[in-house]
Amino acid sequence: MKFCTNQIPVDPKDPSKGLKTCGSMMTPKGGMFVCPVCGAEQAKGNKSDVITTQAKEREITVLEGDAEAAVQSKTTVQCPECGYMEASYTIRQTRAADEPETMIYRCLKCNHTWREY
Ligand SMILES: [Zn+2]
Ligand SMILES: [Zn+2]
Repeated sequence: MKFCTNQIPVDPKDPSKGLKTCGSMMTPKGGMFVCPVCGAEQAKGNKSDVITTQAKEREITVLEGDAEAAVQSKTTVQCPECGYMEASYTIRQTRAADEPETMIYRCLKCNHTWREY
């Protein structure tokens, strides 16, 4: 739904009364919104759509700019230090195709970190 923001005379017969915002509900026509009262035309789509698109693009750029893709999660693995069965892990994948993924574990109990290839 879109309302006309066109400035129209308060009284078409008396211009001295000044202008007011039309405020009529505009009707969609093709790619435009058309005001049935004053005939103003406005392109479809609004500024908030543009902002959303820009925010998404920025997010993607940040991810691509990261040299190493890191995913952090929790898993059941035994800590070689204290024997605790839960650890968070990070998968590090380098850009070089011949390099394998590296799993970096961190024990949730003693914070010991170790790697697995
Ligand atoms: Zn209007
Ligand atoms: Zn531990």
